[in-house]
Amino acid sequence: MNLQLSPLIELQKLDLRIADLKEQRRRIPERLEASQAPVREVKQVLQEASTSVDALNKERRSHEKDLEAHEDRIGKMKDRAAQLKTNQEYQAHLFEVELANKKRGEFEEKILLVMEQIEQTQRTITAAQAQLKESEALFIKEKAVWDEKDRVLAAELAELESKQAQSAGQVEKALFARYKKLKAMRKEPALVLVKDGICVGCRLQLPPQLVSQVKRGEDVHTCPYCYRMLYWEGEPGLAEKPPLAQDQAKDLEVGESV
Ligand SMILES: [Zn+2]
Repeated sequence: MNLQLSPLIELQKLDLRIADLKEQRRRIPERLEASQAPVREVKQVLQEASTSVDALNKERRSHEKDLEAHEDRIGKMKDRAAQLKTNQEYQAHLFEVELANKKRGEFEEKILLVMEQIEQTQRTITAAQAQLKESEALFIKEKAVWDEKDRVLAAELAELESKQAQSAGQVEKALFARYKKLKAMRKEPALVLVKDGICVGCRLQLPPQLVSQVKRGEDVHTCPYCYRMLYWEGEPGLAEKPPLAQDQAKDLEVGESV
């Protein structure tokens, strides 16, 4: 490994972990939002059912008023019966009374129907209230878990951020500037391994000569395709795994390129 790069490798490890922790924290509010969804849904059902009960009660009162007015009319009609003289008038009266009774039955039926609907809606409300209690209890539990997770993440983040400042100070200035520039270009990770002759950042095969140079670790080299800084995990001059014979590795060291 290139010794010049090792403080930067450490810094990058910290930076990546910090970015990961921040991302985990960033996603917590949406997870909480999702946990709360059942509560919101049940509240919606309750709201709608209660609006519906109000409307049904209004309807019931209106039917009751109609029935009352109708009962009044029937009463007056019966009062008039004593004044009837002819048989024909009496027959007409009976017919009128029969019609009025039929109509009263219709009013009563409407009231019964509305009362049934009210009862049904009340049952929905009772069930929804029980469900709301359950959903809220579950949400409180889940929220506690997320809050705790956030607390742990925040603590780790604070610790890593203090290390980050320290670690950045140990990186050679020019190297740090290159690293920051790559990060700004969204080339993350900015510093990548060369493995099996491939740049791990872009997965492209590197020219063998460049691979040897990276292995020698005398300078910091850049991938010609993705511009990331390259490093090799291993002692300078040694071959990658699968391990070549030591002789061959030495040949590489001397001959510089494959
Ligand atoms: Zn690359």
